[in-house]
Amino acid sequence: MDPRLLRINLERVYERITEAAIRSGRTPAEITLVAVTKTHPPGVIAAAYELGIRDIGENRVEEALSKQPELPPDLRWHMIGHIQRRKARNVVGAFHLVHSVDSVRLAEELDKRARAAGVTVDVLLEVNVTGEESKYGFRTATAAEVDSFVAAAAGVAALPALRVQGLMTMAPFVDDPEETRPIFEAVRRLRERLRRELPAHQWDYLSMGMTNDFEVAIEEGATHVRIGTAIFGERPPPV
Ligand SMILES: *Cc1c(COP(=O)(O)O)cnc(C)c1O
Repeated sequence: MDPRLLRINLERVYERITEAAIRSGRTPAEITLVAVTKTHPPGVIAAAYELGIRDIGENRVEEALSKQPELPPDLRWHMIGHIQRRKARNVVGAFHLVHSVDSVRLAEELDKRARAAGVTVDVLLEVNVTGEESKYGFRTATAAEVDSFVAAAAGVAALPALRVQGLMTMAPFVDDPEETRPIFEAVRRLRERLRRELPAHQWDYLSMGMTNDFEVAIEEGATHVRIGTAIFGERPPPV
């Protein structure tokens, strides 16, 4: 990709993050831009690195692991996609933050592998607040689902080699991003409840907002936005 275009895109994204933060009485320093580089080759990530990007989001374990050796060691890699349990051992030690812990069974597997490796893994719990069938994440569309999620969160938080840091969600794609606001609000309210009921743990991070809806997500409290298309352009459609 043309490095000049990359620079322009990145500057515009930073501007929009800053404006959304200021609009909602926050400061841009509270928000981490995770540049989502799935499908893009290491050269594109290297160009983003030159422009100051340090947080990289990938949604497939193998793809991330194959790119890592080719890039500077001070990049922080974020795992943002669904992880199959048999791949948990490859995740341990390879990511700065795992955003996509979407079941207690996956959490237990990560914990087991992390203990074996003698490391701790920072994780977010992925929630599906709308009950969309096609999405991963703990379902929290009804009061009963919220209760079971809180119980599950307590179980995950108690695993010795995982350190929970907050929540992640993916809103459905809609033409008017304003429509996603209730989803992000719901995630923030879930965090309030976790803070009340599980105060011994950290629930500070809210990973929410993508190209289509990151400004609304920031207005609703996002601490991490995961942005691909607005920085790197359209991805080739999946085959
Ligand atoms: C691809 C992806 C993103 C980035 O999507 P864009 O619309 O390109 O910004 C964010 N989060 C997850 C989980 C993704 O898979």
